[in-house]
Amino acid sequence: MFDISKYLEKLDCPNCKHASFKVLKKSNYTNIKNEEDLNKIYRSSADEFLIDQLVECNECSFKYLNPRIKSEIIFKSYSENEDETHLLQDKHRYKTFKKSITKIIKILKIENIKNKNFLDIGSASGICLKAIKDLGFNEEGYEPSKWMVSYGVQNYKVNLKQGSVNDVSKNKYDIISMWDVLEHVTNLDETLKKIQDLSKNKTFLILNVPNVDSFVCKLMKSKWPFYLNVHLYYFDKHSIELILKKYNYELVKNFAHWQFLGLGYIIKRAKKYSRFFSILEKMVNFFNISSLSIPYNLGQTTFIFQKKDE
Ligand SMILES: [Zn+2]
Repeated sequence: MFDISKYLEKLDCPNCKHASFKVLKKSNYTNIKNEEDLNKIYRSSADEFLIDQLVECNECSFKYLNPRIKSEIIFKSYSENEDETHLLQDKHRYKTFKKSITKIIKILKIENIKNKNFLDIGSASGICLKAIKDLGFNEEGYEPSKWMVSYGVQNYKVNLKQGSVNDVSKNKYDIISMWDVLEHVTNLDETLKKIQDLSKNKTFLILNVPNVDSFVCKLMKSKWPFYLNVHLYYFDKHSIELILKKYNYELVKNFAHWQFLGLGYIIKRAKKYSRFFSILEKMVNFFNISSLSIPYNLGQTTFIFQKKDE
């Protein structure tokens, strides 16, 4: 009999360290028969329904998975990630990042771009770095997957290195971004301390995360597509502000993040929610429009923080 408990770790609230919580959704490990099943589920882009227990801290109301799969297993699956289907969407991601960062430049009134150092953590293939570079910044990125890094360096000619935030050298950056990354990091406090070390007074920090307080999340309830095993924390405006305050970051602005993806790809992922999408898929294939670029938002939110030293 496969014993899942060997692979689990219990934790106190990643925000306030209190141990007491209430259960929002119970775990369901019935489909995990062996270690290979586990590894399959813990790949960053895996489309698996949440099987771990979701809890809410009794002290600060932060929502997080507890217990969850041991950090080593999660991190190992990221470093071994070789996701080719992810790369096929890079053209749409480039458009997303270019639009979004252009908007951010305007909002924050960033000038003298060629002298600004822009760090991106969890860069995947580095397509975001390509947008950052093309907009004129000095780009630098880190990604755990060796395979993704070598693809990005070769194809996008960007300054992308293998590793996590802990591998970043002692530089200070003007802008730091984490796109769909903070909800994945196994040690939230350690990651944010490191981000703080890499920041100077007035450094901007861009955090794009699924927002558990979004309209789509409330509408879809437990079927919200961002309830995933790989998403260890469930942020909203209140909790992310509360957490970042501990590291001297103030919220400057937040807005919905509209992600472009190929129509065919979106439908393929939506098929598990409704049979309607199987019919739609046939039509899309018939009209040969599966690579059409479609913007969608299911609650992803961009939060822009600024470091404020007293
Ligand atoms: Zn708490």
